[in-house]
Parts: sequence; C-alpha cells; structure tokens
Amino acid sequence: MRTITLLIIHCSATPEGRNLDFETCRMDHIRHRGFRDIGYHYYITRDGIIHQGRPPEQVGAHCQGHNRHSLGICYEGGLDAAGHPCDTRTPQQRESLQRLVRELKAQYPKALVVGHHDLNPQKACPCFDATKLI
Ligand SMILES: [Zn+2]
Repeated sequence: MRTITLLIIHCSATPEGRNLDFETCRMDHIRHRGFRDIGYHYYITRDGIIHQGRPPEQVGAHCQGHNRHSLGICYEGGLDAAGHPCDTRTPQQRESLQRLVRELKAQYPKALVVGHHDLNPQKACPCFDATKLI
C-alpha cells in the first residue's frame, strides 16, 4: 500500500445547471487527457452518490506534483451558471463529502485534507475552503 499524506478536494468545474456524470467525466479524462482511467479516486455527483474512480492503491492524476502520495476527491460542479468559480455543492454532496473525508481520515489518520487551491494557488478549485471540512 502506498503512503497517503494528502486528501485533495477538487471540483469538476462544471457550471450550475449542467451535468457531468461519472462516466462522462471518466471518458473525458481517457479521450481528451490521455489518462488510462478517471484521474480521481472518488467522484461525488449532485445527487450525493459517491462513485469509486481509480482504486486507492493506484496513483491518481489530479494534482501536478502531488499525485504519488494523495487521493483525489472531486465533486460535480464548482462554477456558477455564468462560469465563475462558485461553491455549488448540493446538501447531498456536502453530506457525502463530509462522510467520505471522515472515513478516509479514519483510514489514513496522518493525511491532511486540502483543496487543490491550497497546493496550487493559480487554481480556484474546489471553490470552497476544504481545510475546514474536518
Ligand atoms: Zn482541482
């Protein structure tokens, strides 16, 4: 098992009112980014369902320079209808994200919970303060 030091939260940068379901996100990463699978380990759609992406033991592709020792968690959304960064999490997504992060913290007690933005300030992702999740 690899060492996990970071739980990195992302948004899919999908505008409010539009959908990016798990399979579409996965195919987008394979077809357009050249990945062999979705880059994230978990993907939470607006209905709150937590989709399993890459197996945790595999290195993801979601945060340059930080993939080796992290898990990537993404929620569907992150932009307002006009395309500006916005915390668009539905109540279901908030609940599922909270639960997932709590479970992962129990499994990887030393891992820090951060947002993509905390590691790369150029990115607005995930459009809320992920360090306050726990
Ligand atoms: Zn991100």
